[in-house]
Amino acid sequence: MAEQIAVSANVQPGDIVFNCPRCTKSLAIDPRAAGFTITCPDCGTEVDVPASTENLADNLEETVLALRSRLQILEHRYSLDRERLGKITQEMGLIQAALDRTVSLLQDALEPLSTESSSNPPA
Ligand SMILES: [Zn+2]
Repeated sequence: MAEQIAVSANVQPGDIVFNCPRCTKSLAIDPRAAGFTITCPDCGTEVDVPASTENLADNLEETVLALRSRLQILEHRYSLDRERLGKITQEMGLIQAALDRTVSLLQDALEPLSTESSSNPPA
């Protein structure tokens, strides 16, 4: 026997509102009736009560929590990557400085040559 849950004409806050699949009558029922079968008061059809919007909200909350913890993991990884990137940038700076120094030493070493080959040698 189906649960004796009244199908009310007055929609209460939190009620599940759905339509009878046969006569399309708008039905409102207590959210605790979710998953139960009721009898449509208009056409007498056995109707499955859909999941309540409250359950949907619970699922959304769980989804949000899962996404938040995932975001935290990603932010942690990002901070680690940023730390690594900082070290790499620092090392690249050292390499760049060494290269600059090498280039400047090479330019100094080549300076007499370029002066000699110049068409306007200093007096
Ligand atoms: Zn019906």
